[in-house]
Amino acid sequence: MNSSMPDLFFDKKYETIPLKKLRKIEIELLKKQLDYIIKNSSFYKKKYRSEGLTKRIKFQDVFLQLPLTSKKELLEDQAEHSPFGSNLSVNKSAISRVHRTSGTSGTPLFIALTKKDVQTTVNTGGRCFWSSGLRQEDLVVHCLNYCLWTGGYTDHQSLEVTGAGVIPYGTGNSSALIETILKLKANAIHCTPSYLIKLEVLLREEFKMSPIELGLKKGFFGGELGMQNSGYRKEIEKKWGIKAMNANYGLSDALSMFGAECQKRTGLHFHGNGVLLAELIDPTTKENLAIEKGCIGELVLTNLEKEAQPLIRYRTHDIIRIIDHNPCSCGRTGFRFEIIGRSDDMIVVKGVNVFPSAIAEIISEFPEFSYPEFQIRLNAPPPVNELNILIECKAELLANAETLIDKIVHKMKNKLYIYPKIQLVEEGSLPRTEGKTKRVIKLY
Ligand SMILES: [Zn+2]
Repeated sequence: MNSSMPDLFFDKKYETIPLKKLRKIEIELLKKQLDYIIKNSSFYKKKYRSEGLTKRIKFQDVFLQLPLTSKKELLEDQAEHSPFGSNLSVNKSAISRVHRTSGTSGTPLFIALTKKDVQTTVNTGGRCFWSSGLRQEDLVVHCLNYCLWTGGYTDHQSLEVTGAGVIPYGTGNSSALIETILKLKANAIHCTPSYLIKLEVLLREEFKMSPIELGLKKGFFGGELGMQNSGYRKEIEKKWGIKAMNANYGLSDALSMFGAECQKRTGLHFHGNGVLLAELIDPTTKENLAIEKGCIGELVLTNLEKEAQPLIRYRTHDIIRIIDHNPCSCGRTGFRFEIIGRSDDMIVVKGVNVFPSAIAEIISEFPEFSYPEFQIRLNAPPPVNELNILIECKAELLANAETLIDKIVHKMKNKLYIYPKIQLVEEGSLPRTEGKTKRVIKLY
């Protein structure tokens, strides 16, 4: 690593750029990118033509009127133009890396990256890990799936670009992982929050050790919402003796990582300055919303300099809340936000919008549940009148379930204005896909 690199920032120029200056740069990049797309992407050419938009229109002038892009369209297009779809805007020979989305919500999407796309992705990931506190002196064990997923090899490179040492562990074989951490004296881990639960059980049962004895000092987490929950985070920090950071938010289809906290822990910072344009829309009316403190909406993304499969006004289906649009006291100018949930997970119960993340927050306020695994089951199509929630708990709690259930229902009634029907089930009994529990199950 370059020793002249300032300690506070990984990419100071873009991380602290005044917003006015950034907007000017973004407009220039957008013009170039739209010209590039009209020239090279059959997918967008066709899409815009079918919307009655012609080449003569200066696309940058009508940017906000350009139709949104959905994952469904990309999937259909990839099925028709296998494997990379007609949005592949370069020759196949220019593809430097191929990933695939995890496909937890259906058919996976193939992601192609050119050499330049890889650089941009890795650099933005570097901003994220650096702002969450990863440094050259750290030895971090990387425990995300390397099989096709961007979280694997690409995030590995983002860890490495900070100057830190990286152990490419991947997933599975957790006992050997514990031995590796102990032998190599790794001081940091990058994984999903729920993986810690598994490690904790193993440590206690097989190694007769408490989590703190593993010697980890820094935890970088992503892939799940757990770290946004302050009670859960505090418990992790106490139990493991680590500083637990929400360090990895992104979407493999748009950019692997672009959201991470800084040391002030004032929410996820948007780290996509100069490479990703963020918009906020109302998920129902699709109307544009201001990125301003307190606003809630669906995040929509535009790649400003992607070559292989550039996305324009791409719907993420992630509902975010803007914590603040003003620069953070750390000096970074990207807006700060938190994830509220998936727009497709939003359930309207008797006119009240409910997100599984809000339900998770309430359950985890009870000390009986450390990291709640739960499932919402919907018996009939909307309108939803009643929510059925299954929550996993330790076997010994099942005997006294009723008192506990009453307390949870009472809290949900007061905070979320819902009266759910709750059932406690034994730990590990809810089905999981790639380590994750699907939060909302439609039984109809
Ligand atoms: Zn900050």
